Amino acid sequence: MVQAPFRFLKLHKLSRHCEERSNAEIQEAYGSPRSSWLHTMTGGVHKFLVAVFALLFLCLSTAQAAEIQKDQFISDEEIEQTLTDWLTKIFEVANVRMEPKVLLLSSSDVNAGATLGGMIIVYTGLILKCENVYQLLGVLAHETGHIAGAHSARAADAQNQALVPAVATMLLSGAAALATGSSEALMAGLMGGSQIFERGLLKHSRDQEETADSAALRYLTALGWPTRGLSEFLNLLDAGYTGHVDPYTSTHPLSNERKEKVTLFQKESHSTVDSLPKEEEKFQRIKAKINGFMNKPDAVLRSYKSDHRSIPAQYGRAIALYRKGKHSDALNLLNALIKENPSDPFFLEFKGQICFETGKVSEAADYFRQALKLLPKAKTIPVLLAQALLESPNPEGKTLNEAISLLRQVTDHSPENIFAWRLLAKAYGKNNQMDHVALCLAEEAFLLNELPRAKVQAGTASKSKDPVVAERAKDILKQIDPAASG
Ligand SMILES: [Zn+2]
Repeated sequence: MVQAPFRFLKLHKLSRHCEERSNAEIQEAYGSPRSSWLHTMTGGVHKFLVAVFALLFLCLSTAQAAEIQKDQFISDEEIEQTLTDWLTKIFEVANVRMEPKVLLLSSSDVNAGATLGGMIIVYTGLILKCENVYQLLGVLAHETGHIAGAHSARAADAQNQALVPAVATMLLSGAAALATGSSEALMAGLMGGSQIFERGLLKHSRDQEETADSAALRYLTALGWPTRGLSEFLNLLDAGYTGHVDPYTSTHPLSNERKEKVTLFQKESHSTVDSLPKEEEKFQRIKAKINGFMNKPDAVLRSYKSDHRSIPAQYGRAIALYRKGKHSDALNLLNALIKENPSDPFFLEFKGQICFETGKVSEAADYFRQALKLLPKAKTIPVLLAQALLESPNPEGKTLNEAISLLRQVTDHSPENIFAWRLLAKAYGKNNQMDHVALCLAEEAFLLNELPRAKVQAGTASKSKDPVVAERAKDILKQIDPAASG
């Protein structure tokens, strides 16, 4: 059975190709505006990225695996949003003028790293290792310290690292777009996901570690957050005597001296609060979610027992029951959670996904709609809702218009979202707007680098009576073949 709320992709071995890129191309890929860089980047990088994407989609059609595997990208609205909210606050006090972008990698390894462009890679193993939110906040603040200190940009292999954000953004938008619960396979079988990241993650110097540690404690203090987490986390790393070394310590060298300094900084920092109960609950929820989706359901059910009344425990249990195919037990738990927390968008999103998977598409649409109302800026829920609307029997009129409007918002904001273009073509088709269908298919083919197909579809769309459609179609034709069009 397909597992819904996580969407994941694996990355192909890319590092070798990255080395061949020129600085200018990297700058172009990395420096372009978020929502339109794919359409504006130079030919070389564009071709390289679309080739990666095409490869990915090729694999999608044959993907079978139902379990989340190691070294896959995960896209999950709740986890990304929780981490991004914390990082936004930390970036602000650190004076880092970028939007944080979280990349979640499914891996039992404990690691995290900052790359260029405000991107922070978080391994799920890190979240599972942390015992409380203060430890995770300590690590996130430390990574922000590396960004603020421009430790990546100064490194000799920054060029190799520079493509990571561009490739990752693209693959993640594909991952998110592939939505959940659809009949299409959700998983890609590309090999070696973490390799590009392990290459991209820098091995920092002792000096850089010290700078990032002291910066982290300054940020936490400025936010009025407890500062004890970083030193707790560093002590956790070698608490075991199993001989296992966490990869974190290879990218962030750990020494007794470093630990002593952190403890000393922390004692001097005088944090004003010693707990953040709301943040702690959010942390335990995302930890339960990762546990629920990634570990064996029976083990999850053993660790979150039925008499555990906390929200994270109930949530973890509901996910594990769902993964065991016990949908009605999962729904019972989820309904109780929703009753107590009627305005929690993520419970509603999860319920929508269970409904969708069990064929109750109109109920699914209702729950997605409620979730979206509570979370208007959500990135994946609009696609889920549109998909549920289009799967309902004979959608027409209001339903079709709603789906079209949702998908147009997604493609306006994320024009690289292939799955959204495909769904939008389907929606226009049901509405008999064939010029729009042709344009959406041209966009999709262009993103997949299927240029002959893109040319045919754009040619059809360019004859549209709607000037906006015709104009964009001509623009695509021009990009495919700059010499031919005048
Ligand atoms: Zn570090």
